[in-house]
Amino acid sequence: MYAPAGVKTSKDFPIPDNMKAWVLGDPGELKLIDKAVPVPKKAEVLVRIDAVAICATDLEIIYHGPPAMIQGGMPHNKNFTPGHEYMGTVVALGPGVDEYKIGQRITVEIHAGCGQCKRCREGMYTSCHNYGLNYGEVDKGHRANGFTTDGGFCEYQVNHINTLVAIPDDMSDEEATLVVTAGTAMYGLTELGGLVAGESVVVTGPGPIGLLGVAVAKAMGAQPVILTGTRDNRLQIGKELGADHVVNIRKVNDVVQAVKDLNGGKGVDYVVECSAAPSAMNEAIKMVNRGGKVCLAAFPHGEAPVDIAHIVRNNIYIYGIRGEGKTATHRAEAFMKQKRFDATKIHTHTFPLEDLPTAIRYAKDRVEDAIKVVVKMKPGAAQKIAAE
Ligand SMILES: [Zn+2]
Ligand SMILES: [Zn+2]
Repeated sequence: MYAPAGVKTSKDFPIPDNMKAWVLGDPGELKLIDKAVPVPKKAEVLVRIDAVAICATDLEIIYHGPPAMIQGGMPHNKNFTPGHEYMGTVVALGPGVDEYKIGQRITVEIHAGCGQCKRCREGMYTSCHNYGLNYGEVDKGHRANGFTTDGGFCEYQVNHINTLVAIPDDMSDEEATLVVTAGTAMYGLTELGGLVAGESVVVTGPGPIGLLGVAVAKAMGAQPVILTGTRDNRLQIGKELGADHVVNIRKVNDVVQAVKDLNGGKGVDYVVECSAAPSAMNEAIKMVNRGGKVCLAAFPHGEAPVDIAHIVRNNIYIYGIRGEGKTATHRAEAFMKQKRFDATKIHTHTFPLEDLPTAIRYAKDRVEDAIKVVVKMKPGAAQKIAAE
């Protein structure tokens, strides 16, 4: 039985020595294997994973590799377990941990920076200068679960306490997996200027981050919030999450003009770009008013042409964000705890962990209009482990 030295466990949450874990083989290939349950070190806990959402970035990692970086290189055939949008229950405490209790439900944010570089010291741990340096003699302690260290497509994972977010009892497992997505949207709005009460926002692209970007902007008091996209069913969900107006870009001649028409003929104060369309940047800089700000939260695969002269002449600010820095996940959870918006509107499908390949196919091919697909441990799986 699992009883590492210095680690606190409880008989109420017995932990096996080995667990089921999906690992990445060649590009696109996932294998279910047995792995040792990891051991939390100082300032870490062991999380029993109860649910994991699949993200577009997981698909990038599984099929292409980046932005995952394992042992300084591509993540394939390294016994690496992807998956980063997970939640669960704390079941063991590393040495000295008293911030969380065994049995407490939590969700996690992805990045625990090294804690010692310039950006980590500024709270920008998703831009850690020691990204991926967590192995061998270059070990700086950086962790980004599912990116540079093992992630959540398995039964147990260790997490630094800085990456844990306590959740209330009435938040479902599925909803809790969405906190980090809302946290990414929150971080984008933080970087754009924080409080946006009464200011105008356009979100381009109704994917998970875009839809929750609408919800977070509205909860922050933005007015109007305009969502652009190509799929009416997703735009409708955007409305339910707080968009004052939606624009189907296939149904208008000029999306920039359509946005301006909805805002009294003027550009908006902020654009959060979540579409990754190659034309998105040039449209975004023309949707904002002079002195406005654009946050880029999605990236096209190739390079995109940019009208730099327009940016300069109009004093437009451009921000790129990576992930969910500055404890934005905690602030997003605060909104969700207050039920300021219902993030579960973007959750469409749930599969058991054993069916991860099916779940990934639903997410990748958008089967049955899938948006957020979640894999869950089988109900009763924990009890079964306890009986063995
Ligand atoms: Zn993600
Ligand atoms: Zn760092």
